[in-house]
Amino acid sequence: MTLDLAEIAKRKSIKYFLISYTDLFGNQRAKLVPAAAIGGMQKAGAGFAGFATWLDMTPADPDLFARPDPASLIQLPWRPEVGWLAADLWMNGQPVAHGPRNLLKQQMARAAEQGLQMKTGVECEFFLIQPDGSSIADSADTQAKPCYDQQALMRRYDIITEICDCMLELGWKPYQNDHEDANGQFEMNWHYDDALVTADRQAFFKFMVKSIAEKHGLRATFMPKPFVDLTGNGCHMHISMWRGDENAFADEGSSDGLTKLALNFIGGIVHSADALAAILNPTINSYKRINAPRTTSGATWAPNSVTWTGNNRTHMIRVPEGDRFELRLADGAANPYLMPAAVLAAGLDGVEQGRDPGPRLDINMYVDGHKVDNVKKLPLNLLDALRALEGSEVLTKALGDFVPAYTKLKYGEWNDHGRHLSAWEREHTLDC
Ligand code: ADP
Ligand code: MG
Ligand code: MG
Ligand code: MG
Ligand code: MG
Repeated sequence: MTLDLAEIAKRKSIKYFLISYTDLFGNQRAKLVPAAAIGGMQKAGAGFAGFATWLDMTPADPDLFARPDPASLIQLPWRPEVGWLAADLWMNGQPVAHGPRNLLKQQMARAAEQGLQMKTGVECEFFLIQPDGSSIADSADTQAKPCYDQQALMRRYDIITEICDCMLELGWKPYQNDHEDANGQFEMNWHYDDALVTADRQAFFKFMVKSIAEKHGLRATFMPKPFVDLTGNGCHMHISMWRGDENAFADEGSSDGLTKLALNFIGGIVHSADALAAILNPTINSYKRINAPRTTSGATWAPNSVTWTGNNRTHMIRVPEGDRFELRLADGAANPYLMPAAVLAAGLDGVEQGRDPGPRLDINMYVDGHKVDNVKKLPLNLLDALRALEGSEVLTKALGDFVPAYTKLKYGEWNDHGRHLSAWEREHTLDC
């Protein structure tokens, strides 16, 4: 199979390529390049001023080049004359050390040195809202327990099936779509794959859902907690490690169905959980989803502590079946590349250090969580999480220049938020 994009453009009638990269804050940046110009662009990359996006760069830096990965090509099913390409970041002839996709590839290479491949599946929850963002789009979607609401799901048949048809056409093996636990919230699931393939698909999924919602006059949001009383947008991540065709996590003979490798990997996640939150829960708003009070549906479905369990949805880590585990920490703002890169770095550390995940807790954490001792709590806000990331020997060593670059930009965001005067402050302080 040739990976010459100019030739592919002719064969597939692609008129334009969207050379796309995801910056540190998860925003997708792109240049729309006519097929006639793709030859040179494939080699050199498309040029950007890096400082103009969320990267640790200055206005004086030379051009940032986004070099498309031809293996990532996706023809937009809703506009097939456009070919979307995920790109890696380069500057001065070197890969950018804090480039999100570069980081994931680097951690995957580290795993490959040990003969291991990470495979992931992600559950990207989203809301369909009014274009101005003020409320959910469907004013009839008001049930107190709206999860799996058949009527509300079918009122969105046109949008949901248009997205699912795209995934079918792209060969992602989608298998179910539902109304989720918040009014206005949906989830669409497709089959797991190699972690880089899933990361590119996750980036594309967010673009696709937003684009198709806009086409129908609505807006889609993956914001972690857009409505304070409703369940937030999680991004659960299912993880397994493979040696060739063999699932290196599955051990039918053990009590949890997991191998020692899997338990050590989980031990690594438990060890680095507070630092991981800075990446998996990357916004100020993220902390209104985890540690949250009960929502109108009866439960938040989000974790508050660093615990693991079997098939029980009140913990940070759930082992639904012995072939994988589910990490329920991340939310809809998590960067599709940084999330698996950081999880893999933490998991590999667990494997290398033989980390013990501690005892499996088979309790309802929402009801009985306060009764257990020695359980680490998740960070209560972005500042605590960023400090944990900076203090994490594991992640600072594994992710190198990324940590200072990321924390620098995120502290900027924290400080910006601190300068914002909220209605709550006035309400609580005017009469002091
Ligand atoms: P739930 O809502 O019960 O957490 P979903 O069905 O919504 O589960 O999502 C499960 C995800 O886990 C899917 O993307 C699925 O392909 C993925 N998955 C299943 N088995 C594995 C595995 N062995 N490794 C990684 N991901 C897996
Ligand atoms: Mg210019
Ligand atoms: Mg699900
Ligand atoms: Mg869900
Ligand atoms: Mg889940």
